[in-house]
Amino acid sequence: MPEMPEVESLAHFLSERCVGRAIARVELAAFSALKTYDPPLSALHGLEIDAVVRHGKFLDLSAQGLHLVFHLARAGWLRWRESLPETPLRPGKGPMALRVRLDDSSGFDLTEAGTQRKLAIYVVTDPMDIAMVATLGPDPLSPDFDLETLRAVLAGAGRAQLKGVLKDQRTIAGIGNAYSDEILHAARLSPFKPAGSLTEEELATLYRAVKEELTGAIARAEGLAAKDLKGEKKSGLRVHGRKGQVCAVCGDTIAEVSFADSALQYCPTCQTGGRKLADRRLSRLLK
Ligand SMILES: [Zn+2]
Repeated sequence: MPEMPEVESLAHFLSERCVGRAIARVELAAFSALKTYDPPLSALHGLEIDAVVRHGKFLDLSAQGLHLVFHLARAGWLRWRESLPETPLRPGKGPMALRVRLDDSSGFDLTEAGTQRKLAIYVVTDPMDIAMVATLGPDPLSPDFDLETLRAVLAGAGRAQLKGVLKDQRTIAGIGNAYSDEILHAARLSPFKPAGSLTEEELATLYRAVKEELTGAIARAEGLAAKDLKGEKKSGLRVHGRKGQVCAVCGDTIAEVSFADSALQYCPTCQTGGRKLADRRLSRLLK
């Protein structure tokens, strides 16, 4: 799943290729992915793209007063094509969701793997018309995101667990399941620690980890083509998705807590004083 560092890199990648080009045609293959109907997709035809920006994990192609906004969700991806086939896209059951063709026949496809349909596409005159964009919390990459911002966010979250608070787009924008694991590992904090209970030192460490993990991931992704971002994200992670592997910091074995539809990974020695966290999926069944 692309998170902020990948979406930021995609925004750069698309900016370089799309800004100044006109949209020749937008073709929809997965009708359920389009969440708005007015203005229609065809309103974008002929408009020149003036910017590609990111809001949290949303990408926003701005074209002369209209915005094509999309969220890749868990299984979505963007594939850049230097030359798109001329044949029109046929709606169907495959992974293809949307094709954006530019005036030089280059463009990109949005695809979604698997059977869950979570990829979301919007055409709006103002990105703030999209509720999930309007309610985004502060962006950790913004220069305004200082220690006090994080302090306020965590204090407001009270007893809620750090892992969930970091992932909640309304409290902090752009962090998902993978980078929240990485940030908590770097900060040596338990994913289940109540957000409002951090000491001054823990708060400062967490702040540094948020900034460093995200800017580090963006630096690694810089200049990579869209197709290479996924592999880079995976290889750059130290704890997420690495259950059973050795923690590079302390040599302990990375552990996992699984939930109904997701899992988190952590290092017991680095993060929980050597304690194994209870598996939430099992304990819920036992209740
Ligand atoms: Zn460790």
